[in-house]
Amino acid sequence: MSFNIAIDGPAGAGKSTIAKLAAKKLSFIYVDTGAMYRAIALGLLRKNTDIENEEALQSALDTIEVGIRYEEGEQHVYLNGEDVSSLIRTEQVSDMTSRSSAKPRVRAKLTRLQRELAARENVLMDGRDIGTEILPDADLKIYLTASAGTRARRRYQEQIEKGMACSLEEIAKDIRERDYRDMHRETAPLRQAEDAIRIDSSDMTIEEVVSEIIKLACFRM
Ligand code: C5P
Repeated sequence: MSFNIAIDGPAGAGKSTIAKLAAKKLSFIYVDTGAMYRAIALGLLRKNTDIENEEALQSALDTIEVGIRYEEGEQHVYLNGEDVSSLIRTEQVSDMTSRSSAKPRVRAKLTRLQRELAARENVLMDGRDIGTEILPDADLKIYLTASAGTRARRRYQEQIEKGMACSLEEIAKDIRERDYRDMHRETAPLRQAEDAIRIDSSDMTIEEVVSEIIKLACFRM
């Protein structure tokens, strides 16, 4: 039986950085489900798909294949065989992702892939609906959050470090819009699972959050 950890939370709470480090320490596979939704969004953008037209959406989805592979411990996401890991982090893709991931057809496409991975391996999976929809029986569920201001400042710092031009106000606005859409959509909205442990990372370092998660995981293994 595999041991599964679910980490959900809003954009910019530090989920991926923290989940990656914690997974490494536990020798678990880190599954970034946001990257899978981003790859689909990139595919839809490339095809210029009108996602509000259900027929057009379905026929585009029929031609989109998403896969993940692990290379030197890093998750790489593939869109129809092409490694798109570095192409999915733009604001344009982020925006399309939060709109297209609200569509039940898009979610259905990834649900099976995510559950299969978790059944096979010890995973630490991060996303928005992992504890509530994908792995309701996960061994440990974390809801990782931080204040809106902290999250915007962290995203801003990340972009600056990558050498990308950006404005703090734009990022704060983008985060607010994405949170609203993720929390208010009909299908699998972002919410804290009843049995999830809430961690507010606003005043915590990355190391403190990681060690808190490791402690909780070891306690349950
Ligand atoms: O985690 P990340 O910011 O990369 O996710 C991008 C978007 O993908 C989120 O804003 C959300 O709309 C969507 N997503 C989702 N369900 C998940 C993971 C991500 O709807 N499990």
